[in-house]
Amino acid sequence: MTVQDGIQVIAIEEHYLDAEVDGLMGPGFNPFRERLADLSGVRIKEMDEAGIDIQVLSHCPPGAQAFGAEAGVILAKNVNDRLAEFVASKPDRFAAFATLPTQDPKGSADELERCVKDHGFKGAMVHGLTDLTFIDDKRFWPIFERAEALDVPIYVHPAPPHPQLVDIYLKDYVEDYPVILGPAWGFTMETATTGLRLVLSGVFKKYPKLRIILGHMGEGLPFLLWRINHVMSAMNKPGVDVVPFKEIFCEHFYITTSGNFSDAALLCSIMEMGADRILFSVDWPYIENSPGTDWMAQVPLGKEDRTKILSGNVKKLLKM
Ligand code: MN
Repeated sequence: MTVQDGIQVIAIEEHYLDAEVDGLMGPGFNPFRERLADLSGVRIKEMDEAGIDIQVLSHCPPGAQAFGAEAGVILAKNVNDRLAEFVASKPDRFAAFATLPTQDPKGSADELERCVKDHGFKGAMVHGLTDLTFIDDKRFWPIFERAEALDVPIYVHPAPPHPQLVDIYLKDYVEDYPVILGPAWGFTMETATTGLRLVLSGVFKKYPKLRIILGHMGEGLPFLLWRINHVMSAMNKPGVDVVPFKEIFCEHFYITTSGNFSDAALLCSIMEMGADRILFSVDWPYIENSPGTDWMAQVPLGKEDRTKILSGNVKKLLKM
């Protein structure tokens, strides 16, 4: 077990798979399905081995997003109720993000409220595109409106990019390097684009207390922040708002370390956003726990900042 100087360790992008969703997706949809479906066997064993005190659980993609509006609402309710029952059985080890039936935005807002008020969920996770549409589209704003009212964040998590993007940008290399569709690049393109679009959409002007979480060290955006901000802030097209990109990003976004255990990326993110904006996570079971906790034990930071990242910041954000 990794020793973290007695600092509590909370990991917040840790996935599972509900049996009903698994059945709907069919065999072979996810090579990690056995580990994802495990809740209290190998999951807890590996948390203990790596020194992870609490996992905030979220359903793996597509959650309740891919089954139609009407069926999605019913499915999300059942999935979230089952997750709530499990978390209630081990409240000292687990907390939860809701899955939302995003094809019904109003239904998603209601489900979020139900999960937060009835089950004590900490927010919700959304995955990539819904009906091939980005989540910044105004049709989805009821979700953000409700998240602000409930004072909970929305975790914007990757899913495979739009098939046309794959076709034009990536397909030549997909056969030999299928990870290019996912963590090697496709997820990053898709989710960084979502983050950028959310800032431009004006959703934070409408809902000034809204908070978004991005995984994978901010999907590259902290590294690009100066350049994006430099050119965006200089835009002065008549009738179009000037967007102080960095100011909006740093005020409304938190980022996590999921699957990106790089000292250089972490230090860059701290320099751009501040240590208060960074949350530890692993991305279990896609990523093993110990490389994450071993890395945090040796990052070139003082105990104060390590404490913030390992659990201090998330306890404030999620009121844990
Ligand atoms: Mn993940």
